[in-house]
Amino acid sequence: MSKKIILFLLLLNIITFSVVYSLSSVGDLQVIFFDVGQGDSIFIETPQKHQIIIDSGPGDKTLLQKVSSVMPHWDKNIDLIVLTHTDNDHISGFFELLDNYVVENILWSGVGSTSSRSEKWEEMINLEGANIIYSNDIDKIILGNVVMDIISPNDYIIEKYSKNANDISVVSKIEYKDSSFLFTGDITSKVEKEMIGEDIFTDVLKVAHHGSKYSTCDDFLSKVNPLIAVIQVGKNSYGHPTNDVLTRLSNFGIKVLRNDINGDIKISTDGNNYKIITNKK
Ligand SMILES: [Zn+2]
Repeated sequence: MSKKIILFLLLLNIITFSVVYSLSSVGDLQVIFFDVGQGDSIFIETPQKHQIIIDSGPGDKTLLQKVSSVMPHWDKNIDLIVLTHTDNDHISGFFELLDNYVVENILWSGVGSTSSRSEKWEEMINLEGANIIYSNDIDKIILGNVVMDIISPNDYIIEKYSKNANDISVVSKIEYKDSSFLFTGDITSKVEKEMIGEDIFTDVLKVAHHGSKYSTCDDFLSKVNPLIAVIQVGKNSYGHPTNDVLTRLSNFGIKVLRNDINGDIKISTDGNNYKIITNKK
């Protein structure tokens, strides 16, 4: 990212410092960690039926198939999509989704790359006519009785870590009553440590970067203090999830769920208690 754009975003940040978006229009909060192979894709439906998708997996069609299996055929409207960063295993399914659904709001860092998929993403979101929200412009998105805190990246993180696309992943936390979920994209422990002073205490943690040993450090885990950790991982040649991370999670006594073992993982909550449904043993 050039300095000019950083300055422009800084300026925007000052102007819209305390802007809070409200997407409001009952049941449980449902979070489904789709089994998309080696990549991330999470579908969230709030008690008031707002739909959010964080990342879209590596395949072209997989997300579309998964979404059509959990949404009614007549509903072609998604309230919010979040792209954590433009790597293939997070961005690829969004192209078909944008072709087939009306997306109202799009949240991302605004930091693209020179890859063709990143250029295609910017082209498509501009054509979509959606409200485009940049992570460093806002603190919260309110979806009825669910609040999404946007924790990273802010201008400081973008400027310091933009050499590594993983580290400027959008990190967000969803809260409903006493329940909470933290979504970390592919950040490494360098950025996890930057967040130690933030409100990151959470019940359900989406483990960063598919269980890479360079993420999910002890300091971060002790601050987040999750009950459940979900690893979005499929067949891969990186050794994900690493024994280092599995050991750290085990040392903290955290229940681990993995897409490569459990298939699609659905966690629903009434705001206090959690129910886990998986489609494989
Ligand atoms: Zn990834």
